[in-house]
Amino acid sequence: MAKQSVSINNIDIELPNCNLFIGGEFTPALSGATFPVEYPGSEETIAHAAYAQPEDVDRAVSAARQAFESGIWSRASAHKRGYLLSRLADLVEKHLEPLARLETLDNGKPYSSALGDIRSVAFCLRYYGQIASTIEGESLPVNDDHLCVTLREPYGVCGLIIPWNYPLLMAAWKLGPALAAGNTVILKPAEQTPLSVLKLAELSREAGLPPGVFNIVNGYGEVTGAAIASHPDIDKVAFTGSTATGKLIMQAAAQSNLKRVSLELGGKSPVILFPDAKLDTALEDVFGGIYDNQGQICCAGSRLFAHKKIKEPFVEQLTARAQSRVVGDPFEEGIEQGPLVSSEQLERVHGYVESAKQQGARLLTGGERLNRKGYFYPPTVLDQVSNSMTIAREEVFGPVLSVIEFDDHALDSIIAAANDTDYGLAAAVYTQDMDRALYIGKRLKAGVVWLNCSQKFDLVAPFGGYKQSGFGRDLGRHALHEYTQIKTLWMRAKP
Ligand code: NAP
Ligand code: MG
Repeated sequence: MAKQSVSINNIDIELPNCNLFIGGEFTPALSGATFPVEYPGSEETIAHAAYAQPEDVDRAVSAARQAFESGIWSRASAHKRGYLLSRLADLVEKHLEPLARLETLDNGKPYSSALGDIRSVAFCLRYYGQIASTIEGESLPVNDDHLCVTLREPYGVCGLIIPWNYPLLMAAWKLGPALAAGNTVILKPAEQTPLSVLKLAELSREAGLPPGVFNIVNGYGEVTGAAIASHPDIDKVAFTGSTATGKLIMQAAAQSNLKRVSLELGGKSPVILFPDAKLDTALEDVFGGIYDNQGQICCAGSRLFAHKKIKEPFVEQLTARAQSRVVGDPFEEGIEQGPLVSSEQLERVHGYVESAKQQGARLLTGGERLNRKGYFYPPTVLDQVSNSMTIAREEVFGPVLSVIEFDDHALDSIIAAANDTDYGLAAAVYTQDMDRALYIGKRLKAGVVWLNCSQKFDLVAPFGGYKQSGFGRDLGRHALHEYTQIKTLWMRAKP
């Protein structure tokens, strides 16, 4: 597959090489299989990507294994690995616009958001480059006849399986720490969004990453992803995606070689709004927390628990704001919301809205796809939702807010309702009573809690779930620990 370009609204976008990337070379699948890649803004097929079958995953694993065992990466000084990651970060910045165009083309997010995502990718790779040399062990106070130290060693070959909502950023969150720690990797992008990571593969060569350190196998989850999860020579799999797939991956890991697993899964995050909150700030946050990225955010604040006293005016303002949101062609300036990623996702989201209406929720705005080409679904507000409805229990992963009213003065019952979910990724509380905010914050069962703010991220701040939102942490120094294992080394110190 030679390089091609596509033209969208008179913008020429150069596509990356859409083959697999194995051992530093682009290569078709041995079977010659491919799958179509679509632009969700027009429903057109824009490319065909090579489709990795199990034998191709085997090839990628061999390349990664060989690179790992050669020591060219795993035994290089952490400083050198860090330097190469920083070079890759520089190249991402240099190719900011082409990468962002690919991200919008593949995922449908507004181009301005894609630019922000790609900047974050560069920051992430640079951060892990910088902290690579802080991976340290300890010396332990054992008996005087011995010296005992711990070493933090890479696992070996890591399989990274990622979703389509922030394609390159989710890749960077895993590539950064995995590579900084000295592992070699095989990355499977989501079938909907392979383009930007393939471009990153080109850049990784230019940055000087040795062949086999970073490999890409495009393909569908049930074939390519499953081959990674069950591969006998992969040491660790790091996954971001749905809880259902996370369970399959854990099973496959258990049934194959007990590879280590870390899972960043779905969410059904509550936002609790009290009458004494700074309501303007809360409105901005609640709005962005459910409608940014077309609502395809794992930690979206999808259940708004609003106190009876302020619910009506608050929801009225929010609904007006939703109605004025500019939805349309993601490459156009001023567009705030693009299409959902796929027809499948559109149907799923709409199905949840319909089920909510049937179960008694009241639709305030949205609720129908836009009458045009592309998978456009407007910001949707559902009122009179109860926490037992399907819409409040299952992850929608789209621009749909559920409003649940409360008027209880017993704090513990609202905390119980917020925690009454299988998920535990994130939660937010809005009240100016800090004693109350902290009381609730400490009792919410979620991996990330925001008090009087929401959707806050930083490279230094760990991110991940409680309960069925998964385990293990992305970001921060914690992520380095996800890609290293501890060796205890004893030495005799007696002549
Ligand atoms: P998904 O269906 O679970 O897919 C995620 C990835 O897993 C894709 O690359 C997919 O490949 C692959 N996959 C599917 N079946 C597989 C299998 N049997 N074995 C191995 N891999 C398999 O999730 P999605 O619909 O793409 O993404 C949305 C979900 O991701 C939401 O639930 C969201 O909450 C979650 N998410 C979580 C976070 C977080 O940090 N916690 C971040 C972003 C998204 P194909 O795409 O080719 O099928
Ligand atoms: Mg696509």
